[in-house]
Amino acid sequence: ATVLVTGASGFISSHTVEALLEHGYKTVGTVRSTAKGDYLKDLFKGKGDFSYVIVEDIGQDNAFDEAVKNVDAVLHMASPFHFEADDPQELFVPAVNGTLGVLKSIKKNNPDVKRVVITSSVAAIISSNIKPPHTFTEKDWNEVSIPACEKDGKKASNSDKYRASKTLAEQAFWKFQKEEKPSWDGATINPPMVLGPVIHQCESVDKLNTSVKMFSDWMVGNKTKDDLPGGGGNWVDVRDCALAHVRALEVKEAGGERFICGNGPFSGNDYCVILNKLYPDDKKIPQGDASEGAREKINSESTIHDGSKCAKVLDIKYHSLETTVEDMAKSLKSRFDI
Ligand code: NDP
Repeated sequence: ATVLVTGASGFISSHTVEALLEHGYKTVGTVRSTAKGDYLKDLFKGKGDFSYVIVEDIGQDNAFDEAVKNVDAVLHMASPFHFEADDPQELFVPAVNGTLGVLKSIKKNNPDVKRVVITSSVAAIISSNIKPPHTFTEKDWNEVSIPACEKDGKKASNSDKYRASKTLAEQAFWKFQKEEKPSWDGATINPPMVLGPVIHQCESVDKLNTSVKMFSDWMVGNKTKDDLPGGGGNWVDVRDCALAHVRALEVKEAGGERFICGNGPFSGNDYCVILNKLYPDDKKIPQGDASEGAREKINSESTIHDGSKCAKVLDIKYHSLETTVEDMAKSLKSRFDI
């Protein structure tokens, strides 16, 4: 079978393409330039049948008309993830039009598609006004970020702008299925902070994707002891997230479902404790508190994004935070001068 992956040049998508190839799928990726496509062709040389098509801007009408031809399933992963938008529309247009654009192109040009999986986010699930202790599940929807952007526009917080873009995109995805009754059934993967080794093209630490860039700040000296414990989020390993996307294409019961793909809360302190062990002489890395109490405190002071449905239905055995952080740190050291 052939799978289309949109935005194949990204952090999560490059691992997902790798997982698809390992599972024997012919894989077509959309990328913005031949340079990005050729990097991936080189990366996956000898690993399977990978090719790419250029889609310069996912927000444009009909952008995916060619890309969707001759594929059996689609993973829509492209969407801007950054906290630098001035006007929320800078994120909303590619997020929403990108999602609807893929679905419209499938409808027009490929009625044989059986399943579409989109990379949503816990951003579409969690409401920031709900404080710990609290466990979010797939039944929850973010109820605060869209109203915040409607009310405050450009003055809305950067995280509300991003979170609203993901919520609007996912809502559009489910609405399309309900109204258009397409040939395919859909599923969403909703990860929290995705961490792990970097295999996509990236010239410098500054240009890393948002989630790994935030981690790298603890390695390069952008964070100090004063920033500890730096908690507040949940995380998942990028390889688990990639595998969940593949399984969401394969598992029949995944149709119509959302999956939080997450392995619980983490903090900057957790990063530092693991990094201190790995690089004991590196003074750029703040000294973390390795006591059991510090860990328990993070768990009790964070909301939980419950990833158990994904583990069960998609058979994901989550990596430990130690393994994820070690592999991520080693991959950054091997690629950049840090
Ligand atoms: P990346 O920034 O590494 O990947 C985003 C991809 O989308 C890139 O390939 C990028 O292309 C492409 N893209 C963005 N905007 C456009 C556009 N207007 N036209 C064409 N292509 C575009 O981020 P991640 O891998 O982290 O994110 C992938 C997906 O996962 C996103 O949907 C994100 O919202 C979601 N997600 C990520 C999380 C994380 O912690 N990383 C957590 C939860 C969800 P280019 O490289 O050329 O810019």
